[in-house]
Amino acid sequence: IPVIEARGVDHYYEGQGGWNHALSNLNLTIPHEEFLCIVGPSGCGKSTFLKIVMGLLKPMRGQVLLEGKPIEGPGTDRGVVFQEPALFAWRTVIENVEFGLQMQKVPKAEARRRAQEVLDVVGLGHVTDLYPYQLSGGMRARVAVARAWALRSANLLLMDEPFAAIDAINRMALQDYLVDTWMKDRRTVIYITHDIDEAVYLGDRILLMRPSPGRIGRFFEVNAPRPRD
Ligand code: ADP
Ligand code: ADP
Repeated sequence: IPVIEARGVDHYYEGQGGWNHALSNLNLTIPHEEFLCIVGPSGCGKSTFLKIVMGLLKPMRGQVLLEGKPIEGPGTDRGVVFQEPALFAWRTVIENVEFGLQMQKVPKAEARRRAQEVLDVVGLGHVTDLYPYQLSGGMRARVAVARAWALRSANLLLMDEPFAAIDAINRMALQDYLVDTWMKDRRTVIYITHDIDEAVYLGDRILLMRPSPGRIGRFFEVNAPRPRD
């Protein structure tokens, strides 16, 4: 069974002149270990779709299945990374990454080992004892990725423009860290961006979301999956 199966999903918000469609009859199947990029201009419904998968929003019509089961709410079976990395300011880098593991009752020593391993992959193995305020924006974004990736139970990673706030030069390095991480430990990723270059670089598959009237919140496939070896 696929990781995600969305069927006939509609979602709309109440606006001034009535209902604003955000998603319209959306259908999508995401297989295991796919790095899927969803690209489209602001306001086309990308975040709405991701919030449904995160379990933060219930679609008004249709259904999204996660591993064959309806999504009931948020959970540690999904790792999330937002544009603004919400790190704990009073915890060190490694403690930020360990936090989710501790919630899952992973023994302390194993949580530390796991956190160190993922931080090494994203190039932060040497700053594990610093606090977020001591890091650059790019480094904080890497901590957020590491924290999501460290959750062993999270076979699905949901990223909503995680590097959008970073300048173009440093963003390229971050993309490389993300590719390295994915190559080391292939999991399913849904990655949202409005940057087509980023989507082309990262994605196995790219879906374009169209905002134009009558075609709101639908996916158009840009390319077919490409082999990765
Ligand atoms: P994207 O992530 O592609 O920028 P969104 O999913 O955030 O798009 O938004 C899709 C549409 O829904 C937009 O027209 C946006 O203005 C509208 N929208 C999003 N969130 C809300 C909300 N909480 N209330 C009303 N309208 C919203
Ligand atoms: P970025 O946002 O990509 O991390 P910056 O220009 O802010 O880039 O930082 C330049 C380099 O300096 C970074 O690649 C990072 O490795 C290093 N750096 C920044 N802050 C620290 C820090 N507190 N400790 C160690 N290295 C740091």
